[in-house]
Amino acid sequence: MTHVTILGSINVDTILQIPRLPKPGETLAMSGKQVAGGGKGANQAIAAARANAETAFIGKVGDDANGKLMLKALKTANIDVTQISTSNYADTGEAFILLDDNGQNSILVDGGTNQEIKIGDIETAQATIEAADFLIAQFETPLTTTLAAFRYAKSVGVTTILNPAPAKTNLDPELLALTDLIVPNETESETLTGIKVTDEASMTAAATALLKQGVKAVIITVGAKGAYYQTNANKGFVDAFKVTAVDTTAAGDTFIGALSSQLEPDLSNLAAAVLFANKASSLTVQKLGAQPSIPYLNEVLADGDVKKA
Ligand code: ADP
Repeated sequence: MTHVTILGSINVDTILQIPRLPKPGETLAMSGKQVAGGGKGANQAIAAARANAETAFIGKVGDDANGKLMLKALKTANIDVTQISTSNYADTGEAFILLDDNGQNSILVDGGTNQEIKIGDIETAQATIEAADFLIAQFETPLTTTLAAFRYAKSVGVTTILNPAPAKTNLDPELLALTDLIVPNETESETLTGIKVTDEASMTAAATALLKQGVKAVIITVGAKGAYYQTNANKGFVDAFKVTAVDTTAAGDTFIGALSSQLEPDLSNLAAAVLFANKASSLTVQKLGAQPSIPYLNEVLADGDVKKA
């Protein structure tokens, strides 16, 4: 069984359903409201665990009701929460998601305790990193902490996966040098490389630029089109599944968690793992909310489109 450790964010999401985005100064009636677990790190962990990876989490919540709710949700998902500490100084992270009738979303985030994860927390979690096949991180937690975690992971032979989201410019070159697999979406890929993703040639150019900076493999996800992968040895495009999207929140997170549950630590089965991840995230986009919509292994395998990678 694959062991996945995730360093990342934990949020409580409030989804505000609206007919369209309000204009500045406008007051608009909501058509619905829903509260659900979220945060890129927590979503990715739930996706990995629901796809049957042995999953552990390094993170921080506040000493509040949202923190208790999220710890319970992660435990219920069979995730090892021993390295999630509770801070007395800040509130659990929160996100407010404006979701319009077309399934487009705009998100406001209060980082809260996610910004309080310190290098000392990584030192305490060394055994949890070392026990994993993969260490996954995103950009909703402090960069210095991610660097410390990736340095340690590489020193003990753990494969590192970076989801550079939300998009950030001027990345520390050391982080890319410590990253085995980077998984941006098209916006994040453009932010990192300056190359706009328009077709397969531009994806190749962007992936090549990232490989030159020291990563061993690149996967660029391109929403309803699918995902592109490239290493120094091979490359390919895997089409998305054709579905009707109602809410794309957590599509990319489901992709990464599901992917990690299937990948070989030497990244030798990228195409098969991407196909599995495409299937898992195509199920997520058909339901409302982040964590409630993330599928279980039996749902991903149900109609025979994909096998375990
Ligand atoms: P993010 O959520 O990070 O912006 P993407 O939008 O690229 O990421 O989506 C990640 C993956 O989710 C895609 O590679 C694809 O497999 C799947 N996906 C996203 N949107 C759709 C959709 N409308 N139909 C089918 N699959 C989708």
